[in-house]
Amino acid sequence: MLKMAVSGASGRMGSRIITLSREIGNFKLVGALERKEHDNVGDDIGDIIGIGSAGVGITHDVTDIKEEIDVLVDFSSPSATIQCLQALSSRPVPVVIGTTGFTKEEADYIKLYSQNTPCVFAPNMSVGVNLLLKVLDDIARVTGDDYDVEIVEAHHRLKKDAPSGTAMKMAQVLASALDRDLEDTAVYARHGLIGERSKKEIGIQTVRAGDIVGEHTVLFGGLGERIEITHKASSRDTFARGALKAAQWVYKQTPGLYDMQDVLGLK
Ligand code: NAD
Repeated sequence: MLKMAVSGASGRMGSRIITLSREIGNFKLVGALERKEHDNVGDDIGDIIGIGSAGVGITHDVTDIKEEIDVLVDFSSPSATIQCLQALSSRPVPVVIGTTGFTKEEADYIKLYSQNTPCVFAPNMSVGVNLLLKVLDDIARVTGDDYDVEIVEAHHRLKKDAPSGTAMKMAQVLASALDRDLEDTAVYARHGLIGERSKKEIGIQTVRAGDIVGEHTVLFGGLGERIEITHKASSRDTFARGALKAAQWVYKQTPGLYDMQDVLGLK
């Protein structure tokens, strides 16, 4: 049994991860973390997310978890993730980080943490998106500078960061395949008399509406044709199942920073 703690336990993702881990089996929930001010700190996480008693009380401090943790799965917020890793620095445990929206400094801290323990850090844990990342690299290497590259992403109205971590990861893959510096070439908004599109820009546009789980389209616009590749997530379970796959994989690895391409053997 894999002893798992979940941070962001009663959130949209955390609650599905806990629910599906019970269905899949082979997981033992040993910790459920939530923010300090959360109304249900102290209550049984299973009761709160509607799956019946789990025998695990919600806590806000990872050091309160007395049982050994084989893997921590984190879908919370950037500051919560960093606080949790800092609290674990004296007894690092393998982690799967799905949270998005980190600053460069925060991402650097995750890299530092991973020097002592294996860590999967991926803005999108679905098989489909990770396959797509591989395909995007292949396409961009062939189309090169002759095709304009645009990314459009859409998510639900409650999402806090923009563009999505997935869109940014796609942009990084494309920039690297096209030998461009993303900082210099990313264009996040267009308005007014902006002039002609420059050849090397990578457009990244954001839509926020209703309950859209997550949609990403990458468009390669050439003269006389265009290629559009779209991924649509219809349920969060695709990410939750990916996170559980990563949890089962990460704790067997040597220290280092990994992503879902590593987990899925796509490298
Ligand atoms: P959510 O708001 O429903 O859940 C986040 C949970 O974290 C909330 O319950 C919140 O109370 C809790 N939290 C806040 N501060 C905390 C703290 N200090 N300690 C512990 N818990 C704390 O959001 P969500 O839709 O579940 O998404 C969570 C994160 O995961 C976001 O960054 C989102 O972009 C990301 N996400 C990633 C993937 C992926 O595949 N990697 C998929 C979906 C969402």
